[in-house]
Amino acid sequence: MISSQLQLASYLLASILFILSLGGLSSQESARRGVWFGIIGMIIAVLSTIFGEGIEGHAYIIAAIVVGALVGILVARKVEMTSMPQLVAILHSFVGLAAVLVGYGSYLDPETQSLIGADRTIHLIEIFIGVFIGAITFTGSIVAWGKLDGKIGSKPLLYPGRHLVNISLVIGAIVLCYFFVQGIGNEGMYALYLMTAIALFIGVMLVMAIGGADMPVVVSMLNSYSGWAAAAAGFMLGNDLLIVTGALVGSSGAILSIIMCEAMNRSFWSVIFGGFGAAPTGEAMEVTGDVTAADHAEVAQMLKDAESVVIVPGYGMAVAKAQYPIHAMVDHLLAEGKLVRFAIHPVAGRLPGHMNVLLAEANVSYDIVQEMDEINEDLPDTDIVLVIGANDIVNPSAQDDPNSPIAGMPVIEAWQAKQVVVMKRSMATGYAGVQNPLFFKENTDMLYGDARDSVLKINDELLRV
Ligand code: NDP
Repeated sequence: MISSQLQLASYLLASILFILSLGGLSSQESARRGVWFGIIGMIIAVLSTIFGEGIEGHAYIIAAIVVGALVGILVARKVEMTSMPQLVAILHSFVGLAAVLVGYGSYLDPETQSLIGADRTIHLIEIFIGVFIGAITFTGSIVAWGKLDGKIGSKPLLYPGRHLVNISLVIGAIVLCYFFVQGIGNEGMYALYLMTAIALFIGVMLVMAIGGADMPVVVSMLNSYSGWAAAAAGFMLGNDLLIVTGALVGSSGAILSIIMCEAMNRSFWSVIFGGFGAAPTGEAMEVTGDVTAADHAEVAQMLKDAESVVIVPGYGMAVAKAQYPIHAMVDHLLAEGKLVRFAIHPVAGRLPGHMNVLLAEANVSYDIVQEMDEINEDLPDTDIVLVIGANDIVNPSAQDDPNSPIAGMPVIEAWQAKQVVVMKRSMATGYAGVQNPLFFKENTDMLYGDARDSVLKINDELLRV
């Protein structure tokens, strides 16, 4: 058992470590240190909570932690890097569910029932808000998991009057909050049940209404919600550290969502409210024309002839685990004295920073990795762009077709280069489910096949004298 003063000091230390952890994660060089700060902070937080005053049943708590940790280790070891977004989404749903359960537990706690006056009102409102945010996070994250995993279609589910329905439901929940605070025993419980059902429904509808290309913002937004749900649980339990940690996650998730929205030229509010006014009104343009294909030897020759090369990696690079042979190819081209750079789109892959993580894993030098805005202006002077497993992020319809689901999203303007080679397995669409006119352009050649196999074959050709 530790004293409450020592617990407070530990909470303060853990909070500082969490802030240092977030700071560390902001750059690639300090990310590892940031993760360690987070781990140590979390160990201090958990130990000082379970060995705090008034906590009983340590054996049960420790057994639950061991079981949870074992499941977590097994899942994390098994999960493929390409399935990380789904894992993150489902973990967010756990935070939401935890907030709902803490809310119900807190309401049933005899101590809550014995509260009176303002203390009672404040505590009940905390419970109500906590359960509301938690339930939205829970179902919203499950739907996000389904969409990211391809179990639910990426097309937005938009029905007429949906905003009116959502607003009415939120107003209904506010009215229920009044009955919940006024009600005693069963009456309050019914209001809580009803509000939970409403919040679960809102969570489903909110994420169902969001189209494929806007999913990155949803992932970071649900991350933010899970933080606020944890903060709400902190209020319910009177745990200051949980409030601080939840607020850190909530605000950093909100900031990330805003950054992602800006990067994708989307209004934050329109994404949050399920594509408010963003739905295209007409039919998307039909893509027609001829597609030309090249083989590995031809692409290798194009690379030999080029002086400047830009590589645009996308989700397919992650699927094929092509980053290692790509690094070998880049080293070879750099040794030949060519200008080689990577162009990274903010939503390439399935996680914010997905491509940066993969390239760092393959030890690609950070100096040659550039953001979309930096590289776009250089593309007209570039000899060849290699699009490796990317699709939506190089789609010209975003600029040319106002009725395209990705209209307005900034893209890497690969077609501006003298020659483009797109490596993918087929003519299949990307995550947003839209056809890509880039493939039909005169200066584009397709190189069909798994990205890793293709790069390995090109490397063989490049090494052949
Ligand atoms: P896309 O999903 O648009 O396209 C990926 C392409 O990779 C597919 O067209 C596929 O074509 C190809 N591919 C798949 N496997 C392989 C393989 N083994 N070898 C070669 N090619 C392969 O990915 P982008 O990175 O271009 O765009 C990301 C999309 O994901 C955007 O729409 C974004 O909004 C969305 N998104 C992003 C998130 C994020 O946080 N970054 C989160 C959620 C969604 P084929 O089958 O023909 O091989």
